[in-house]
Amino acid sequence: MKTIIRKVDRGQIDKAVMAEAGEILIRGGLVAFPTETVYGLGANALDEEAAKKTYAAKGRPSDNPLIVHIAGISYLKAIAKEIPEAALKLAEKFWPGPLTMIFDKSEIVPYGTTGGLDTVAVRMPDDEIARELILAGGGYISAPSANTSGRPSTTTAQHVEEDLSGKIEMIVDGGPVEIGVESTIVDMTVVPPMILRPGAITKEMLEEEIGEVTVDKAIITPDSNIAPKAPGMKYRHYAPKADLTVVEGDVNDVIAYINDKIKEAAQKELKCGVIATKETEDRYRDADVKCAGTREDEMTIAAGLYRILREFDDDSVDVIYSEAFYSDGIGSAVMNRLLKAAGHHIVNV
Ligand code: AMP
Ligand code: MG
Repeated sequence: MKTIIRKVDRGQIDKAVMAEAGEILIRGGLVAFPTETVYGLGANALDEEAAKKTYAAKGRPSDNPLIVHIAGISYLKAIAKEIPEAALKLAEKFWPGPLTMIFDKSEIVPYGTTGGLDTVAVRMPDDEIARELILAGGGYISAPSANTSGRPSTTTAQHVEEDLSGKIEMIVDGGPVEIGVESTIVDMTVVPPMILRPGAITKEMLEEEIGEVTVDKAIITPDSNIAPKAPGMKYRHYAPKADLTVVEGDVNDVIAYINDKIKEAAQKELKCGVIATKETEDRYRDADVKCAGTREDEMTIAAGLYRILREFDDDSVDVIYSEAFYSDGIGSAVMNRLLKAAGHHIVNV
């Protein structure tokens, strides 16, 4: 299959391109498109066959459910059996935006889309191209991240092309995404609601609106035997090809440790990569050093992380060391993705 690539300007969305993409979606085809979090691989969420194509194109295990994307809150009623009051409050505050909520599913949502679950995950993206495309495609578009399963999520149309060219009908290129890590997922079928995946909407932001929110233990203590409640969180996502180690501790100790490791790698003739920040990048010697962003604004680190992991694949490095990023806010989402990429290999220095 030849994948059509269409550039779309967010300031002046080309209706003809949206109609073309919408038609593909309505007849059960796959279209990748930008959202504010990462690129999504769109399909008609109410069509079981389209869900199968999605899993095949990504090489995604079929027990890993898809998030249904909508373009207006009025669309929620048809796919969620019950909408708790707290969910309405969160929708009011954070939609459109990087928040996914889980509801009991209605009959019209096929099990193919929900990975066999009786619940459905729903999000209204903030990206205008995404919302126009959802409307053009019939109103209910399942959209997992538009990457090959196991590779870092895609934050540009070029990354989508690398992974999915020839496997999907169309890529809508809206330029680089804004946020760079996937949405926060909150299970609204339990009381109090539970965060299943951290993202740009933090626990504190949610609690300000609806009171107590818990966090799935499996994402806090990933070494335990507890299965995560979001099936996808059990897979080693976001993995670069090289072995990645996260190093945490006092910043000077971290830099000294990583510089030692660079020397060790050189002795073994291994190519070493480093994930650093604007504040620290000049302090590493003789390695493939990439700057994720600045510690003064962790949003920049979120935006740069997946691109960097992909660049390391292109550079064919053998080992990667990353500084740790801790903070409230989006820092916890960044660390969650980084630790998954590292297979939870972290050293304290
Ligand atoms: P992605 O589409 O790559 O952003 O991944 C979607 C994530 O949402 C995966 O981790 C899924 O396991 C999770 N997810 C989707 N639907 C549900 C659901 N009904 N219950 C729990 N987790 C879900
Ligand atoms: Mg994904």
